[in-house]
Amino acid sequence: MAILKVEPLTTARALRGPFDYRRPEAMEGLEVGSLVRVPFGPRRLLGVVVGLAESSQLAPERLAEPVEALEAGASAELVELGLWVAREYCSTPSRGLSLVLPPGTGTGRAARTVRAKTELRAEITPAGEAALEGGERLGVKQRAVLEALVEGGETSAPRLSAAVGAALPTLRRLAERGLIATREAGVRRAPAAPGLAAAAEPPRLLPEQRDAVDALVAALDGEAGAPREQLLHGVTGSGKTEVYLAAVEAALARGRGAIVLVPEIGLAPQAVARFRARLGDRFAVLHSALSDGERFDEWQRLRSGEASVCVGPRSAIFAPVHDLGLVVIDEEHDPSYKQEGDPTYDARAVARHRARERGAVLVAGTATPRPETWLELPRLELPRRVDGLRMPPVNIVDMREVDPRSGPLHADTWTALEEVRAAGQKAIVMINRRGFAPWLTCRSCGHHWSCPNCDVSLIVHRESGRLVCHHCAHVERAPRACPVCSSTTLARAGAGTERIEELVRERLAPMPVFRLDSDTTAQRGAHARILAEFGEAPSAVLVGTQMVAKGHDFPEVTLSAILDADATLRFPDFRAEERTFAMVAQLAGRSGRGEAGGEVMVQTLAPGAASIEHAAAHDSPGFLAGELERRRMLRYPPYSHLLRVNLASPAEEKVDAAAAGIAAELRTRLPAESELLGPAPMFRVRGRHRRRILVKAQDRAGTVAAARATVERHVADRALKDVSIGVDVDPQ
Ligand code: ADP
Ligand code: ZN
Ligand code: ZN
Repeated sequence: MAILKVEPLTTARALRGPFDYRRPEAMEGLEVGSLVRVPFGPRRLLGVVVGLAESSQLAPERLAEPVEALEAGASAELVELGLWVAREYCSTPSRGLSLVLPPGTGTGRAARTVRAKTELRAEITPAGEAALEGGERLGVKQRAVLEALVEGGETSAPRLSAAVGAALPTLRRLAERGLIATREAGVRRAPAAPGLAAAAEPPRLLPEQRDAVDALVAALDGEAGAPREQLLHGVTGSGKTEVYLAAVEAALARGRGAIVLVPEIGLAPQAVARFRARLGDRFAVLHSALSDGERFDEWQRLRSGEASVCVGPRSAIFAPVHDLGLVVIDEEHDPSYKQEGDPTYDARAVARHRARERGAVLVAGTATPRPETWLELPRLELPRRVDGLRMPPVNIVDMREVDPRSGPLHADTWTALEEVRAAGQKAIVMINRRGFAPWLTCRSCGHHWSCPNCDVSLIVHRESGRLVCHHCAHVERAPRACPVCSSTTLARAGAGTERIEELVRERLAPMPVFRLDSDTTAQRGAHARILAEFGEAPSAVLVGTQMVAKGHDFPEVTLSAILDADATLRFPDFRAEERTFAMVAQLAGRSGRGEAGGEVMVQTLAPGAASIEHAAAHDSPGFLAGELERRRMLRYPPYSHLLRVNLASPAEEKVDAAAAGIAAELRTRLPAESELLGPAPMFRVRGRHRRRILVKAQDRAGTVAAARATVERHVADRALKDVSIGVDVDPQ
């Protein structure tokens, strides 16, 4: 007897398979990865076959059979990967598996929500041709259809309908008479190709680029001593993308597939256009801006082997690429590689695991490596810009002495911007906060507007005339008067992108000013449009959040300015220095990519911070040496593993009780060398009180196991049913 081991797709943490089912004869084709619908108590659930066995512990009469076999799901390789993620990140098999299933696969009772799209196509038969020539009796529409088919060969029903007005009944009658043959054929929903020109021909590589490609190809060919994991450390504009493209082509030439991970925002049209131009039909793209149908079809093209290179953000690491030979992680320092929701996987760690399992080569590229990557991977260096230009000089602008009333831009920054206007060039100004002002208070009584659900200030958004919470969905109309004292003198303090846009537009008129932040790019295609408009303008300023520092290349930009560069340093996070360094260095790299050279202004209240000083000197090795030393002393990654338990509840006593209980139990289960910090309170979000517990440890597997056992016991506790408990492994 054949037994199927099935993991039900459900969001319930307590329901954990796999469960045994009998395989009926009619479902012989089922294999690991197949999707089935199974009876589960009184319910029917979608499930994934995760194993096959000869026999079951259960008596045969207690075994049910699947009620339905659906089309193929994931491959056995990907099922294994999904289950690995579930274990490694303290999640459930169901959530791990949902990462590797075809896009649109629902959980629980939900059916497949997305399917392959087909259309009816018609072709004329010899009998049809004879009928047309022999003057047989035909209706007007029937004749028109046959003529159109003689003319155009096989044609789809929608097209015939548009061309000759023939509806389906006409086609059915013709088919019944044997005059045409019809079939259902798959239709590809292809993602729109942005109208950006990109070269299809590779440039002649520079010697350093050649060396890097050679090293990767040697690893692909399995040459002795060639490292299979590499860091490609190259300043911005040093031609890293060309190295990736050449390596991908080498993998393809060896009959192997590739995955290229890019930061979410890096999917900006310029990068996609470059890959598409070079790789053509072998290329598939997977990202959240695609429609469900497009994503499904791109996934199927990879699954069927029609396409063999997948470009996409973190979730693309689960793409069904056959015979994976190469994984590229572009901009490996980017925080978007870490998933915030359960499972809290890090695509960079999943990439290393999958590459090792498949014998694939891995290359992680960036100008600003993470300390752990710097420590762990051998390096390929691209020390120069492709164009031979120097890195732009960086001016640190000390804001401590400046009167805040003189505005958010320093006089020196204004001078630099005015020079850009005079020379007819372009500038980028970054401030990592959207909206107009982050602070609204009443001048008479001091009333301060904050979110009713979260312990944070409301942000003034002037364009929409609203006050907005950036942590929850709360929105209210911007007030005219104070609700407490009725005074109409309200003070807005601080600056966000809207305010900077306005200031720059007023002062630098008539220069066009564009704004790039999540408000202006909410609509599909807006991101690409704004960048294209900035690119086409002869002279302009681009103002925005971190979005302006990523994924584009404008040679005419001669100035980049970053306001409040130390804002990220004020986060209580051990990665604050690393983030600040990367942000400043990346933005600096956007300037001076052309003949006219460039300059960078970094406004800060912390001019002496190591991250800012080293970024200003374009000195990654110097920064990393100091940062690694600091991490070693404080026992932070890469010198330990971190795990965090996050708790939240509308009821403060309950979250406190749960946090105390979990912390106490964790202490008894954790490896002896580990350190437990907390429970610590976090500010309230969405009306929920939050607490967190942090664990630092050497023994990762032991820590994850302890957390899993503890959390599972508490999740099952009915008294805690309105406390949400999540585990974040390698929190950022
Ligand atoms: P990075 O990814 O390191 O920022 P890119 O690969 O995007 O750098 O290269 C920057 C620019 O230089 C691109 O416009 C690219 O087409 C061009 N480029 C890269 N390598 C070469 C080369 N060997 N010869 C000429 N141009 C090149
Ligand atoms: Zn007031
Ligand atoms: Zn809120």
